[in-house]
Amino acid sequence: MPTDATPGNAGSPAAGPRTGKEYIAALDDGRTVHVGGKLVGNVAEHPAFAGIVATMAAVYDAAGEPDSPLVDPDTGGLALFTIPRTWEQHELRKRALEHWCRLTHGFIGRGPDHVSGVLAGFASHPAVFDTDRHQLGANVVAFHEYAAARGLWITNSIVPPQHNPTDPTSRVRPVQLVEERSDGIVVDGAQMLGTGAAVADEIFVTSVRPLSPGDEAKALSFIIPIATPGLRLICRRPYATSGGPFDYPLSARFDETDAMVVFDRVLVPWERVFAAGSVEVVNRQFFGTAAHQIGNLQSIIRLTAKLRFLTGVASLIVRANGRDRDPAIRHELADLAGIQTVSEALTESAHAFATQDEAGVYRPAGKYLYAALGMQTEVYPRAVKILGELAAGGVIQVPAAAGDLLDADEAAAMEVLMGSDRLPLAERVKLFKLAWDLVGSEFAGRHVQYERFYSGAVPVVKGYAYRFYPFAEAEALATGFLDSYGLPTPAGAAAGVAGRAA
Ligand SMILES: Cc1cc2nc3c(=O)[nH]c(=O)nc-3n(C[C@H](O)[C@H](O)[C@H](O)COP(=O)(O)OP(=O)(O)OC[C@H]3O[C@@H](n4cnc5c(N)ncnc54)[C@H](O)[C@@H]3O)c2cc1C
Repeated sequence: MPTDATPGNAGSPAAGPRTGKEYIAALDDGRTVHVGGKLVGNVAEHPAFAGIVATMAAVYDAAGEPDSPLVDPDTGGLALFTIPRTWEQHELRKRALEHWCRLTHGFIGRGPDHVSGVLAGFASHPAVFDTDRHQLGANVVAFHEYAAARGLWITNSIVPPQHNPTDPTSRVRPVQLVEERSDGIVVDGAQMLGTGAAVADEIFVTSVRPLSPGDEAKALSFIIPIATPGLRLICRRPYATSGGPFDYPLSARFDETDAMVVFDRVLVPWERVFAAGSVEVVNRQFFGTAAHQIGNLQSIIRLTAKLRFLTGVASLIVRANGRDRDPAIRHELADLAGIQTVSEALTESAHAFATQDEAGVYRPAGKYLYAALGMQTEVYPRAVKILGELAAGGVIQVPAAAGDLLDADEAAAMEVLMGSDRLPLAERVKLFKLAWDLVGSEFAGRHVQYERFYSGAVPVVKGYAYRFYPFAEAEALATGFLDSYGLPTPAGAAAGVAGRAA
């Protein structure tokens, strides 16, 4: 019997996006989440997750504010799910993404703003999911409506566990189809990671890596609630518990957490299956639809927001040390500003040069989109390095914890190291602790690794950029120039002059 959790039963359009309170309440659903060998009860109450849950609840609440740019006035739901069929809808999505990323300063990679775009891309091209064996396009459309009506946070897990495929003793099994039943498919195995999975509503599982004939068992695409029986999450070390919000301000609020995803014979109901056993569908779903391009507009808007935030911290650090007039330091800040501006310019271009595909859906321009995505693997580590250079020992010359500043003797001792009327001790320590959470903490290191790998290994990401660059146009210029001269005539050679084409 269809229930409220059954796609196809989306009901009337949302009266408005759900509130933060409703998001938090939905997390208490009996999901299986392990941290440090222990099973977590309600994630919203666990110290590893309470910070990120509060952050995301505040973002959901922001969508309820009057005239929030996060809301599509036509549906009353989150504009993140809107299929950009008109230029106005394309603009609406961009404004919603920018607002979302401003609220989270670009530190949430796999929040509700990513897979919502992927789904919008899928739902605009349902025929891609229909094969002779399974007609699943209608599932995609119904699930998109269902998720949009509820403003669900769906994360993704689209890469197999890292392992040695030539090791005959390996027990690693990327998630695969083990049974097809009348009520759904049974899947078993594991996926490498699901960022945000512990605190999301649902998870999208597939293979973003191209599959080959013979890989039918791995050819899956589906979305299920995190609380589905048999689904287990094994989380990495939480960073939110590194220290208090004064000492680790970013870790405390924005640790979206990452978890390995294990499937113990999980039953996926048919209405949540988009591909089962079709290599062709899995290989076509991202680029045969608008999904990859719409989904990744979020990636570059997010990176732009994060780089802007980092540049702001760097500029404050420089001013705190009175170095803002030093040409060498200005040079470093200008490099940072350049990195941020290039990211912003590519994002604006990807949006502005979007074109409608055969289904009438606006796809962000691939040339700019993938140039930005390909660049992030190098520019984010570089931006962090520049901030680290500017902050230097200042990020180490701080007391162990906020409590030290509350101790009068300790604070007096530190006054001779950092005291100033212009920048009081506590403010200085606060700023440099924020910088440390960007350049040196575990959270900081994870973010560098995230920007380098979340979209795939470097050759994969650059492969997208290669595919979308119009090399023929550039080649024509070079060829034209080459054609403008030739071998010198004997007389010209003697005079040292190359022959010119007519
Ligand atoms: C912080 C973080 C969060 C993540 N979150 C998610 C998530 O939410 N969902 C998800 O699905 N995945 C997630 N991932 C996983 C991510 O998708 C993978 O790390 C990425 O696809 C690379 O795969 P891999 O780690 O197995 O590295 P590998 O592919 O094994 O790469 C290892 C090394 O080999 C190089 N290499 C790989 N392929 C080639 C090639 N063809 N030619 C030459 N060199 C190559 C790489 O550049 C790299 O140096 C996350 C990763 C990180 C670091």
